[in-house]
Amino acid sequence: MGYIVALLILIALPYYVYLEAQKRGMNSILWFVGSILFPIIVPIVFFITKRKISVSQSANYIPPGFRSKKLWKMGVAGFAYLILVSAVFAAGRAPSIPTSEKTSTVEKQETTNTQVVKSIQTNQNQATTTNTSNGTPVSNEPTTTTNEPTPTGKLEVRFLNVGQGDATLVKFPSGKVMLVDGGNNQYGQAVVNYIKDAGVKSIDIMVATHPDADHIGGLDVVLQNFVVKKFYAPKVANNTKSYEDMLLAVKNEGIGISSATAGVKLDVGAGATAEMVGPIKNYGSSDMNNNSAVIRIVHGSTSFLLTGDAEIESESDMIASGKTLKSTVLKVGHHGSKSSTSLSFLNAVSPSYAVISVGHNNYGHPTTEILNRLSSKGIKIFRTDKQGTIIATSNGSKVVFNSNPMSYAPTKVTTTTSKPKSTTTNKTDTKTTTSSGDCSKPLIKGNISSSGEKIYHVPGGAYYDRTIAEEMFCTEEQAIKAGYRKSKR
Ligand SMILES: [Zn+2]
Repeated sequence: MGYIVALLILIALPYYVYLEAQKRGMNSILWFVGSILFPIIVPIVFFITKRKISVSQSANYIPPGFRSKKLWKMGVAGFAYLILVSAVFAAGRAPSIPTSEKTSTVEKQETTNTQVVKSIQTNQNQATTTNTSNGTPVSNEPTTTTNEPTPTGKLEVRFLNVGQGDATLVKFPSGKVMLVDGGNNQYGQAVVNYIKDAGVKSIDIMVATHPDADHIGGLDVVLQNFVVKKFYAPKVANNTKSYEDMLLAVKNEGIGISSATAGVKLDVGAGATAEMVGPIKNYGSSDMNNNSAVIRIVHGSTSFLLTGDAEIESESDMIASGKTLKSTVLKVGHHGSKSSTSLSFLNAVSPSYAVISVGHNNYGHPTTEILNRLSSKGIKIFRTDKQGTIIATSNGSKVVFNSNPMSYAPTKVTTTTSKPKSTTTNKTDTKTTTSSGDCSKPLIKGNISSSGEKIYHVPGGAYYDRTIAEEMFCTEEQAIKAGYRKSKR
C-alpha cells in the first residue's frame, strides 16, 4: 500500500508542478525536471551523509528509493516536497528560482520568436538622430545589446509608436525599468518585442494609467513575457475584456495591484525620482480619463510629465494641489484631444518639448487647437504617428531626441481648410456631436470580427460588454464612415 501511495505521488507531483508552473508563466520544463530529481536526490544525500558512503562508491549507486524497503522514504520526501511546492505556489511565486528561470524563458523566446512584429522597431530605426538642443547630430545606437540593469547615468524615455494609444518605456539612470501603458490589444506582441530589443530583461514598475483599451490592451501580453515586480493602476474598474485580461495577467504574475494616486513615490533607484502627481482624487467609475495616473520623472535639471489621458478636470486639480508640474518634456494628455492640455495646465508645466502619442483615429486627435496652443508657446512637437517611436534621452542637464521636432505652422482653429477631412475632424472632437453627447467619452465600439468584418456595437447591444474595441466612436455615423456596419444584435 505504501509503495502505491509513494509511486502515485511521484507520478502526480511532477505533473502538478508542471501545470502550476505553466499557469504562472514560469519555466514549466525546469520545474518538471526539478520535481522529478528532488525526491531522488534527497534520499541520496540523506543516505550518503547518514551511512558515510564515499563519493566514489556512490557513482554507480542506485538511489535507495528504488530499492525495496526504502520506497516509503521517497514517498515521504515526495510528500514533503509537495507541501513545500504548494506553499511556494500559494505564496504567489518562489523567492528566487522562478525569476531566473523566467529570464531564461525570455531569452529562449528571443532566439526562437521569428514572428516579430516589426512596426515599432522599424519606426525607431527610420527616425533620424539629431540633437535638438543645439542641432548637432548624435549617434543613436539603440541599446539593443542585452545589458543587465546596470546603472547608465542616463534617463531614457521611449514613446512607443502603438498607433492610437499610449505605451511609454522608461529606463532610469539606475538601470531600473518602468513601462507606462501597453497600447491596444493588437500591439501587445509588438510592445514585447520592442522591450526585448531595448535589452530589457525584467520590468521593475508597470503602470496602467487608466483602464481604457488603448492603454491597457497590450499589458497582459507584456506581463506574460516579462517578470514584472510592481504594478500600479488607479482605483477604477472597466467591464471590458482587455481589463479582465490585464487583471488575470497581474494575478498570474503573483503580484498585487498598488493604487496609482497622487503622492505615490516610485522606487526608481538612484539618479532620478518619479512621483505620481495625479489623480488627485477619484473621479468615479464612469470617468476613466480623469482617473489617469500622472507621473513626473526628474533627472537632474530635466523632467518628464506622463499624463495618460488626464483631462481638464484632473489638470485643474493637479494645479490646485500645488504639486510641482513644471517639466522639460510633456507627454500630451489624451492623444492631443482638446479635452486635455488646458492653457493653465500648459502654463504650469511649461514644457520645452511635447510628445503626442497618437495614431489613425476618428476623434480628430491631435486637434488643431492643441497643436496651435503648443506651437504658439514655442514648444517643440513630436508625434508618434508621423515620426514613429520617439526616444528622449536625458543626461541630467539636457534632453536629446532621436528625431527632429515636427515643423508646424499654426492655423486658425475655426478655419475649415480645403481639405475635406478637417471639417469632420473638428466636428468629431467637439462636444456638439448630437447622437452621443459627450465626445470625450466615445461609447460605440468598433470591432473587427474573426472573419475580418468590421462591426460596431452600441451600448445595450447583445455583444457590447464583451466586445474589445478596435476603435471607439462617438456616433454611429462615424462608425459607418470608418467602414463599420452595425451589429445585428
Ligand atoms: Zn487613450
